Amino acid sequence: MFGFSNRDLIRFFRKRGVSMAVENNGKVFPKTRNAADVLAVLLEECSELGTDLHCEEPVTGVIRKSCGFEIETPVASYHTRVLVITTGGASYPRTGSSGDGYRFLNLSASR
Ligand SMILES: Cc1cc2nc3c(=O)[nH]c(=O)nc-3n(C[C@H](O)[C@H](O)[C@H](O)COP(=O)(O)OP(=O)(O)OC[C@H]3O[C@@H](n4cnc5c(N)ncnc54)[C@H](O)[C@@H]3O)c2cc1C
Repeated sequence: MFGFSNRDLIRFFRKRGVSMAVENNGKVFPKTRNAADVLAVLLEECSELGTDLHCEEPVTGVIRKSCGFEIETPVASYHTRVLVITTGGASYPRTGSSGDGYRFLNLSASR
């Protein structure tokens, strides 16, 4: 059961001015074929929701606390009540997904 399905995602972007096209092979792309249009929508949404973005600041550790989590980076440490880990898998480290998420969850990544 998905709380936010692939169709919801297509609607999300269409509502914000980026329509999608489904190709014959089933792949879905923005009609403009421009990834920057997708990024612009996501950044605008973050801005509207008052989200702080910390780029070039990789998470080095996550510590569970009684009332949330402590997120450590080389620059600072942040407290959060809710944590969502979106670090990707470990199959293609060159893309930046080195399997850190498994470490934060105390799972071992097989590579
Ligand atoms: C070559 C290639 C081609 C692909 N082609 C397609 C395709 O045509 N269609 C398709 O649907 N899928 C495709 N995929 C798969 C698709 O890219 C992945 O399924 C998708 O990117 C997974 O999204 P994600 O958000 O889970 O993780 P990712 O996109 O991997 O994002 C994880 C992010 O977390 C960041 N991160 C990791 N560790 C840390 C840390 N410690 N601190 C801070 N940030 C961190 C990474 O830098 C990255 O930006 C392709 C993948 C590859 C490698």
